Amino acid sequence: MRELAVFYCPKCGYYAYYQTSRHPQCPKCQAPGVMSMARIHYTEFMHMSCQERDEYLSQAILASNPSLLERLIAPHKKYNSRAVIAEMSTVIMNLDTENKILNDTVNWMHDTIWQLLREKRRAEQAQSAPAAAAQSASSQAAASREPHSTSQDKDDSEER
Ligand SMILES: [Zn+2]
Repeated sequence: MRELAVFYCPKCGYYAYYQTSRHPQCPKCQAPGVMSMARIHYTEFMHMSCQERDEYLSQAILASNPSLLERLIAPHKKYNSRAVIAEMSTVIMNLDTENKILNDTVNWMHDTIWQLLREKRRAEQAQSAPAAAAQSASSQAAASREPHSTSQDKDDSEER
């Protein structure tokens, strides 16, 4: 008696055990002479679970038809917004970091400018120390306005 083998139909997925001498026709879909022999010993196949058999034959059918595999992968290539989004979010994060550095630089420049102005004013006040009290009062009023105008300048820079 001839050895048994697993045959499967690549058209409908039906499988059965036949003697290797036979060239079975699929009894399910009647496709003429299309049943293929699985490259596995039938006893090994018999010991597989239903899921394992299904996976094994699925791979065998896919391997026999590369264009089918390509068609299955095609939607993954077409619908790949996540790759674009991931790339864009990386770009945005880098821009955010760069923007923060630029803002810090602008704030630092503002602080430095105001510090220089204050020092200059202090130097001028020291020079004109013996001057009238009225004059020093007016320059102190100017100094008290200073913090207000500083914050206003910062607001302007952040809006940009
Ligand atoms: Zn069939």
